Amino acid sequence: LTAVAPRVDVRTSGIWQLNSVVLSSDGDALVVDPGYFPRELLDLQALARERGTVRAVVFTHGHWDHVLGWRSFPQAPVHASPRLVRDVREGAPTAARNLANAADFDGRWYVPRPGPPAWPDELRALDEGARLRVGAAEVEALLLPGHSADGLALRAAAAGLLITGDHLSPCEIPFVDDLDAYRRTLRRLLALLDGLDEVIPGHGPRLSRVEARAVAAADLEYLDALADCRGRGDAAGALALALPRAAGAPGMSDAHRDNCRAAGLAV
Ligand SMILES: [Zn+2]
Repeated sequence: LTAVAPRVDVRTSGIWQLNSVVLSSDGDALVVDPGYFPRELLDLQALARERGTVRAVVFTHGHWDHVLGWRSFPQAPVHASPRLVRDVREGAPTAARNLANAADFDGRWYVPRPGPPAWPDELRALDEGARLRVGAAEVEALLLPGHSADGLALRAAAAGLLITGDHLSPCEIPFVDDLDAYRRTLRRLLALLDGLDEVIPGHGPRLSRVEARAVAAADLEYLDALADCRGRGDAAGALALALPRAAGAPGMSDAHRDNCRAAGLAV
């Protein structure tokens, strides 16, 4: 049975241009990274219901801005990478920290929720290459560590579409958890882009293949330069590297410093 292209709807949150995606086909729908504010989640819920029955929610990774909206789709099982499933089940520090960060943000900005931030009771693992059916359409999971150990992308091959989580965002620099994993992921994405038409990143506008390729190439150049500095033990050189974009955005130089530290440099 050949999969058809799903209908694609994107809703962008007021926080960090976080993208929530609704894929639908034949009266079935799948929601990726539902977020963030309560009124946005109501809109997303209404949109998804208009498209069909929500059969699945997928988290691209465990960072707090991506994982709070699952309660808006109470009938749908929630899927994530095997790593995130394990971290949540075992109560790993990263899983606890993600919830604590959400509670902190909500508290500071008086964001009302039906309950405190929590993980779903059941999280289902999507292994590399695992497929989810959405009506007559199909998506495939790709495991993409680098920004976080629990990263996952979704490819809808029939639509030429890749949903990349926090990789390839055009409004921020790469936020690195594991430098070498991130570089491998970018090289993999560059190879994958040949067969794609569009990328929906976790934050910022949708990207054509050409735009996505430019972001990936600039990010890889930046991270390769960071790896070179690591190889020489050159902390000052690493700090002085040009950022691939958003250099003037508040916090971006702090994020760059964090990347230097993630590379093992004492900055
Ligand atoms: Zn993230």
